[in-house]
Amino acid sequence: MELTLEYAKQLDQTDSLNRYREEFYIKPNTIYMDGNSLGLLSKRAERTLLESLNDWKEHGIDGWTKGKHPWFFLSEKLGEMMAPLVGASANEVIVTGSTTVNLHQLVATFYKPEGKKSKILADELTFPSDIYALQSQLRIHGFDPDTHLIRVKSRDGRFLDEEDIIEAMTEDIALIILPTVLYRSGQILDMKRLTAEANKRGILIGFDGCHSIGAIPHSFSEWGVDFAYWCNYKHLNGGPGSVGGLYVNKKHFGTAPGLAGWFGSKKEKQFDMEHSLTPAESAGAYQIGTPHVLSLAPLLGALEIFAEAGIENIRQKSLKINRFLMDLLDQELSDMGFNIGNPQEDVRRGGHVSLEHKEAARICKALKENGIIPDFRAPNIIRLAPVALYTSYSEVWEVVQILKKIMKERQYEKFANEREVVA
Ligand SMILES: *Cc1c(COP(=O)(O)O)cnc(C)c1O
Repeated sequence: MELTLEYAKQLDQTDSLNRYREEFYIKPNTIYMDGNSLGLLSKRAERTLLESLNDWKEHGIDGWTKGKHPWFFLSEKLGEMMAPLVGASANEVIVTGSTTVNLHQLVATFYKPEGKKSKILADELTFPSDIYALQSQLRIHGFDPDTHLIRVKSRDGRFLDEEDIIEAMTEDIALIILPTVLYRSGQILDMKRLTAEANKRGILIGFDGCHSIGAIPHSFSEWGVDFAYWCNYKHLNGGPGSVGGLYVNKKHFGTAPGLAGWFGSKKEKQFDMEHSLTPAESAGAYQIGTPHVLSLAPLLGALEIFAEAGIENIRQKSLKINRFLMDLLDQELSDMGFNIGNPQEDVRRGGHVSLEHKEAARICKALKENGIIPDFRAPNIIRLAPVALYTSYSEVWEVVQILKKIMKERQYEKFANEREVVA
């Protein structure tokens, strides 16, 4: 069947999530395809941020316990709101820190090398910040990252094979850290299977959920995942520098935080100001200091939308609109040097399309000049994320038409094929 603009419009009309689009600030004459890097502002997130500012205005110090969104309980409240998105109980999730800080905290807490069992297993395609954190944690323990950080190799530079990861789960591994979804290719790892294999071998396993939170459902508790961490500014639309999240399986409650601070206290004990910490009996124990209230506040509104729309519905639309984009790319751009570098199967693809082209850097610049916001990942990837809550099928149609025009007219040739400072 030939895909047409009329068909795209029909899909928009029957899309049950279409009504959320008007809740977001979408710049006129632009098509935002970068919600996997920084999600857009919604009116509800704006409202809860302004309400929190007003709590400060009205209550001063008393805003910790009074006002519309008392700050003392905000991280716990948001943890409860976020728990359904990761498949956890309310007290297994806390909204705190940032991705990298939370990884440091969780490794400081759960990496306990013993004798030969002292290595950390990761992969060669993961996000660099995770690797830097793991290398520095190994150094703190007196180990050489060159011998103690094992990175599973990719066979093709795009994907990881679960078989290869399982094979690398040897007796000398103390801890495994893997992404839920690879940030370039959008591949979803089989978390259930990998967790079962790690559990079987008595190796702790933690996941970086930055590219899956808010895009796909998870069942961390059911799968037996030991811990996870993620950022909230991508698919979750929490805003630039939004506070991150972490999950700790309840079987680990009571494990002393590796990096302790007074916000990890049992709430009732915190203001006793004792010099011995009584940690919370929940994921809250892994907080460190005073929460960044104004970077938490937009999440209240942002998460309301997820609760209402439902993560299963979001996933269904995400699969459908990403497939629509891939089918259109096949139909319109098959002879122009592009390759779709994300998995094709639904169970293995996340929330974005990974389009490869040797001129990717400057094609991205031409897209921006035409009002389309993609993102570029060196050396050759254009990431395009049609987002379930605010991207329309008609926009996806237009993106592909504009891309086709850019290629036909060789518009990209007037730009240098190199990345910007922030790509
Ligand atoms: C975005 C992202 C990060 C960013 O970490 P911050 O500490 O929030 O800067 C880390 N890991 C992955 C996989 C990401 O996609």
